[in-house]
Amino acid sequence: MKIQKISMNRRDILMGLAAGTILPVSGCAQNEALGRSQLQLVSENQIMALSQQAWQDALQRERILRDPGYNRRLQRVGANMVRATGMTDLDWEFVVIDSDQVNAWVLPNGKVAFYRGILDIMEEDGHIATVMGHEMGHVAARHSAERASQQRASQIGLQIAGALLQQQGVEFNQDMAAALGAGVTYGIIMPYSRQHEFEADRLGVDYMVSGGYAPHYATDFWLAMSTRHQDSGFEFMSTHPSDAARLDAMRAHIAARGYS
Ligand SMILES: [Zn+2]
Repeated sequence: MKIQKISMNRRDILMGLAAGTILPVSGCAQNEALGRSQLQLVSENQIMALSQQAWQDALQRERILRDPGYNRRLQRVGANMVRATGMTDLDWEFVVIDSDQVNAWVLPNGKVAFYRGILDIMEEDGHIATVMGHEMGHVAARHSAERASQQRASQIGLQIAGALLQQQGVEFNQDMAAALGAGVTYGIIMPYSRQHEFEADRLGVDYMVSGGYAPHYATDFWLAMSTRHQDSGFEFMSTHPSDAARLDAMRAHIAARGYS
């Protein structure tokens, strides 16, 4: 087959995707917690159903620690932080997972897991509030839905790009799909993910302060985390890379808000 001149090259396609000009971006909604609009191609119901599934899987897969000391601590901070976020309509649940892993997560449906390993290095409640506030920030900001929507959008974008190329007699082969896919992932989705970390940090600090915890616990904790290696069982660091830029932004936010 004769390959014709491609009037829309890979760069145009990526630029179009980035600018939203070749995406059906009608599914946008304003997020109150963030004060910006978000792409919404995945429904709240879908996210809730996925969260419920993830929660059931985790409860089956992991061993739950019943130790009253660990649980009282997590519940105490959890109750304060839920009040601070104002997200009291979610069906919150807090469990301690009996594992050395340094990890913690909060699902969009209000299900919270802290691993024994991360609680063991958190000397003060303020450290628990730091991670919980950050994770609750991801929930309030609907980052999971946004991320899923972005992934969905990049798939749609790839399909559109493929169809356009085919119309022009260009075969959309596997290599091209892979190249485009990598560009979309690293060029568009990853920076958003980074933006999500900054947003969750800001919201997390606000929630901590509302919950009665000094904001220095946040900078102390993330500074300590930034010196740890993720290959030494610090799972949390692989999903939340901590670095100087995040710490600087957090300090700037604390100063701008006048927290002390
Ligand atoms: Zn995060």
